[in-house]
Amino acid sequence: MLAINNQAKFKEIVKNALAKSANFPRWQSAINKAVVQIQLQPEFITWLPETKSIVIWNQESNHVHSANGVCDCLAFTKYNVPCFHRAMARLIRIYMETEEQNNRADITDWRTESQTPYFPAQLQRTRSTETIGKVRI
Ligand SMILES: [Zn+2]
Repeated sequence: MLAINNQAKFKEIVKNALAKSANFPRWQSAINKAVVQIQLQPEFITWLPETKSIVIWNQESNHVHSANGVCDCLAFTKYNVPCFHRAMARLIRIYMETEEQNNRADITDWRTESQTPYFPAQLQRTRSTETIGKVRI
């Protein structure tokens, strides 16, 4: 099941996609249908991070499709027109990558914070020249 936890972020991604495809009515309708399907039937959509693709069980046609940049449906294989599966795969991929980056950014912040010296004065002292025995290092 597909989980879009950050609805505001997803809406922003959809808005950008619709703006970018303003001159391509077929993509616009594919994007709109994808969004409706995501809202209505997330339980029939699976995101596969390894292949950056989706698997969707289309309830209208009762077909299962796999899509990323390509798709195995008739719209793509026979007529080579934008299908909502590809639009959906792209929207979800952008969303998932954005979420990944956010998570990575959080980890980076956490690491930076955890490396902040507790006792700066003490750390500074260790940075000055040290001696082991009689040898300066
Ligand atoms: Zn398709």
